[in-house]
Amino acid sequence: MALKCNIQCRYCVRSISSSEDRPGVTENILSPLEAMETLREAVELDFPLRVVAVAGPGEPLANQETFEVLQMAKEEFPDLIRCLATNGLALPEKAEVLEEIGISTVTVTANAIDPEIGAKIYEYVRVNGRRYTGKEAAKILIDRQQQGVKEAVTRGMVVKINTVLIPDINAGHLTEVAKVYEQLGANIMNIMPLIPVGKFAHMRPPTREEVIAAQAACGAYIEQFRVCQQCRADACGIPAIDHGRRCKPKY
Ligand code: SF4
Repeated sequence: MALKCNIQCRYCVRSISSSEDRPGVTENILSPLEAMETLREAVELDFPLRVVAVAGPGEPLANQETFEVLQMAKEEFPDLIRCLATNGLALPEKAEVLEEIGISTVTVTANAIDPEIGAKIYEYVRVNGRRYTGKEAAKILIDRQQQGVKEAVTRGMVVKINTVLIPDINAGHLTEVAKVYEQLGANIMNIMPLIPVGKFAHMRPPTREEVIAAQAACGAYIEQFRVCQQCRADACGIPAIDHGRRCKPKY
């Protein structure tokens, strides 16, 4: 339900579709009230539902509706764990409100800690109405991601780092990412193979062996999450058990 984004990753194509099966895709953009209706249905359908999250297809923290729906979820289903995925750009200033809403887990997608590498991945970032590009943009994003993770950890949230493995760009850099985020207090890292779309449509995805090798190397520094199915933004289910079974919204 989060439509807008405040940065542009070169591997991202957000799409409204019922057939594509990858992150950044959803069947509908739901209003907070529609999302709550869908959540009620999912609970009634007796999904083994334990977690409710806002994960896109854009940037949750760049959409006011994210805070509205998570607040409503807190009031109506206080026992569900509330989570959020973010690119981290706005995390430093939003960490406080996330704590108030009772967010217990934050996933931050961090693909680099070196602005030179980041500049190859991020086309631009937008802060306070100004658009930054190149190394300057990457540095702003990377600094804010690290500050945001620190803030989230300080406030008692579990932090998962998502890192997209892009063989031609950051493959040799992932252990540095792992080291830095372990030191900042992140709990777990999820290495996701590049899905070549958008400006990276010409790039090759990593092989399974390359992903396993990256997990092994990074696992020396931070625990690895190994059951990611790279689900759609509107997935509902248990990863690795039912492959992100989708909860069909009626809207
Ligand atoms: Fe796409 Fe997420 Fe990157 Fe925004 S932060 S451009 S939604 S992948």
